[in-house]
Amino acid sequence: MKIVCVGGGPAGLYFSILAKLSREKHDVTVLERNAPGVTYGWGVVFWNDLVDDLYRNDPVSAREIAEAAARWDTQEVYLRGELATRVGGDGFSLGRDRLLDILTRRAGGLGVDIRYQCEVQDLSAYADADLIVACDGVNSGLRLQHAPHFQTQVEEGTNKYIWLGTDKVFDAFTFAFEQPPAGWIWFHAYRFNTETSTCIIECPQATWEALGFGKLGPDETLRRLEDIFKRRLAGHSLFNQLRGLGKAPWLNFKRIRNERWYHDNIALMGDAAHTTHFSIGSGTKLAIQDAIGLARQLREHTDLPTALKAYDEERRQALLAIQLAARSSAEWFENVPSYVNQSALQFAHTLLNRRGSSAWSYLLLLASQQSVLRGVLRGLHSSRRWVRSRQRGSDGARPA
Ligand SMILES: Cc1cc2nc3c(=O)[nH]c(=O)nc-3n(C[C@H](O)[C@H](O)[C@H](O)COP(=O)(O)OP(=O)(O)OC[C@H]3O[C@@H](n4cnc5c(N)ncnc54)[C@H](O)[C@@H]3O)c2cc1C
Repeated sequence: MKIVCVGGGPAGLYFSILAKLSREKHDVTVLERNAPGVTYGWGVVFWNDLVDDLYRNDPVSAREIAEAAARWDTQEVYLRGELATRVGGDGFSLGRDRLLDILTRRAGGLGVDIRYQCEVQDLSAYADADLIVACDGVNSGLRLQHAPHFQTQVEEGTNKYIWLGTDKVFDAFTFAFEQPPAGWIWFHAYRFNTETSTCIIECPQATWEALGFGKLGPDETLRRLEDIFKRRLAGHSLFNQLRGLGKAPWLNFKRIRNERWYHDNIALMGDAAHTTHFSIGSGTKLAIQDAIGLARQLREHTDLPTALKAYDEERRQALLAIQLAARSSAEWFENVPSYVNQSALQFAHTLLNRRGSSAWSYLLLLASQQSVLRGVLRGLHSSRRWVRSRQRGSDGARPA
């Protein structure tokens, strides 16, 4: 089969790997508009469920990803500079550039033809392809060309956000909410290697305008943000220089949905097919799970239309719950000012349970303010992680 993936992000690269692993004879090409190493964003978070999927589907790249990833086991919430809560959590984080580098080398090693600086405007040059995978990201040009078939819906979030890096190493996954006179503004931050953290800064449009971000240049913007968050950044710098793509812009989150994920021999995948708000940190995982889903359907059905239909049904269904959770999370962040007049602990509770909470969750949060119980919970998390890593055959560090 001749397969062309338009877009060399996690979706396109991982699908190309699985297509080659399924059948070496598949002729697989990835077309990427940027040069090698050029990409947006900083580190991304993920959890054990993705690591399990990676090990099940390609242990070679899974091992590299797991070894390269940083781990965090604590979440902290700061309100107006004060610690509101510190609780356990359990996740991984990895630089997007590092992830792409691992997948690129693996795909290349399996014989995938990766062509850089190859921007696809239309598909006429690829008319002989059996399958075209449109994995060209949130602003997918291929999706746009066939929007009536895919029945695309795009909604824009009301908050402004900017995806930055910082040399402040946040060992815990940290939320910090500040209230300068202009209004509420906050960040989501976590380290993804020993030197650098992701720092996504978000605020309502009104705060953004009152702080003058629409008129400030990129460097003045950074200096202003460093000043607003000086308590948590502790003298460290924010970075906005992307790899080969200029300076990070302020954006509004775009929620993408498609009623249909295929048209003729074109399949949508990853952000081209759907987005989930960045506050639940799942877009990369879902892009990879789409790739796994399509590769499996192609193995199970020799007939392409049947495989594409099954892929469409399976993945759209799988996304329903997480899209709902993402919407709740995005709405929580769009209503921050209405939560901040509670006690700091209640505020942190609504934040940490923004995807839905149980009657016990507040009591558990109260109890976990005691460092002894927090230590016990952390020990449990760490043991569970070790057991899972042994089950999948990866080298998990023994829990302390
Ligand atoms: C602020 C922020 C934070 C995030 N944090 C996380 C997180 O913590 N965890 C997580 O799992 N996800 C996170 N995500 C989501 C994640 O980045 C995306 O969901 C993921 O990158 C989707 O992968 P993809 O391959 O579908 O698209 P992309 O990674 O966007 O890749 C698409 C590729 O297609 C290329 N391309 C586009 N058009 C063309 C064309 N015409 N021709 C050729 N190539 C083209 C692009 O250059 C790009 O390389 C975050 C997103 C944002 C905005």
